[in-house]
Amino acid sequence: MEIQEIINHQKDFFKTQQTKNIKFRKMYLEKLRELILKNEEHLYQAIYKDFGKSKFDTFTTEISFVLNDIDYYLKNLHSLSKPKKVRTNLVNQLGKSKIHPEPLGCVLVIGAWNYPYQLSLSPVIAALAAGNCCILKPSEIAENTMKAMARLINDNFPPEYLYVYEGGIDETTELLKLKFDKIFFTGSTRVGKIVYQAAAENLTPVVLELGGKSPAIVTKDANLETAAKRIVWGKFLNAGQTCVAPDYLLVEESIHEQFLEMMRKYITEFKYKPDSEQYTRIINQKNFQRLIKLITKEKIYFGGNSDEDKLFIEPTLLTHVDWEDDVMQEEIFGPILPVIGFTNFNMILNTILEHEKPLAAYLFTRNSEEKEAFTTKLSFGGGCINDVVMHLGNDRLPFGGVGNSGIGNYHGIYGFEALSHQKSILEKANWGEPDIKYPPYSEKKLSWIRKLL
Ligand code: NAD
Repeated sequence: MEIQEIINHQKDFFKTQQTKNIKFRKMYLEKLRELILKNEEHLYQAIYKDFGKSKFDTFTTEISFVLNDIDYYLKNLHSLSKPKKVRTNLVNQLGKSKIHPEPLGCVLVIGAWNYPYQLSLSPVIAALAAGNCCILKPSEIAENTMKAMARLINDNFPPEYLYVYEGGIDETTELLKLKFDKIFFTGSTRVGKIVYQAAAENLTPVVLELGGKSPAIVTKDANLETAAKRIVWGKFLNAGQTCVAPDYLLVEESIHEQFLEMMRKYITEFKYKPDSEQYTRIINQKNFQRLIKLITKEKIYFGGNSDEDKLFIEPTLLTHVDWEDDVMQEEIFGPILPVIGFTNFNMILNTILEHEKPLAAYLFTRNSEEKEAFTTKLSFGGGCINDVVMHLGNDRLPFGGVGNSGIGNYHGIYGFEALSHQKSILEKANWGEPDIKYPPYSEKKLSWIRKLL
């Protein structure tokens, strides 16, 4: 079946109102849960083939997220979809005011390759929970996981409700010409702009989950051991191919040497080796070559080794880095961590403010003034104080970017709201209304209205 035909079927199916039924939504969310659990081994094998991601990492950073999302919506769907009563103001008496969350229709989800299950399926789950039909276009770069998801879903779901469309740039370009009720895109800022422009042609609203250069700051007041351990974990998880990984590190000069040494210790302890279970490969040759060029030999503090055949790049710390260096001009998205020293905390915040708003930012300190300045002065999607990446693991926190790092957010209630329309209904009684709003107007009526409004 042609994709246009499938979308037409989804639109027709949506009109039957079946997806508005809570039992229907729950039945399919449960089905997806069952299918994931039944095919878990196959999902692990596919992602391992794509970029050597271990079962441990895939469970903790992908499958567990997806299962938690399903459980969250199964548990909260009733209250999320219920009309919410709000107060009715004086001029609208006698009346009742309610907000009715309603599904949008047919949603297009475009996924990225770096967390292929989580970043494709989490928005799909939110879309289905909110009562929509959905087309998922996973990233073709992680080909095996794309095929695994296509099989899992297309063999078990009616295409007029949920369908996985496999394809790359050409197919996505064609898809973007069609009219959807919402597009949920995860990927680079560059492609985000293409999606936004295409969506504008059809006046389609979008959620854009994009990237950027996310800083991590370590001051002399930090617990250095904890900071080093957590930064090393968050940066080299998925071989640095994480949208919220610390992209670069700003370390107070007085602890600079000591801190680099601690990070070296943890990198060694964590045993990131070419064939180890702990360490993911670079996704492809193109990214491998791009990353290798960012490693300036003279600036290597630790690491720098690589193996092209195995698409392995050792965790690499670069020191004496300048803001003008190539590594500071683009999102790294790999296991290279440039470290820049600073002496004045407020000045370093000002330097961050001169750059595009990042998807994440992290601060390691025990100093409350520094925490306050970091939280109020900087603008970024979300972040942590004294940790990295983990804010994603709390579905009570909205996840999304700001400015160049994205538009809109999701997770938990925020995902449900991002994929719903909030419809307002005011219901009036048929009696009890004063005549003053109706013509013919008079000074007396106006003076009453002034008092009322
Ligand atoms: P990408 O932008 O290259 O691709 C994302 C999707 O867009 C893929 O499905 C791809 O097929 C499609 N695509 C690529 N080029 C296209 C084009 N010219 N026209 C139409 N569609 C096109 O991103 P990626 O390499 O998969 O992921 C890496 C980027 O995504 C990084 O910048 C990273 O920070 C960002 N990211 C953001 C988040 C987030 O949640 N905010 C999560 C993961 C990745």
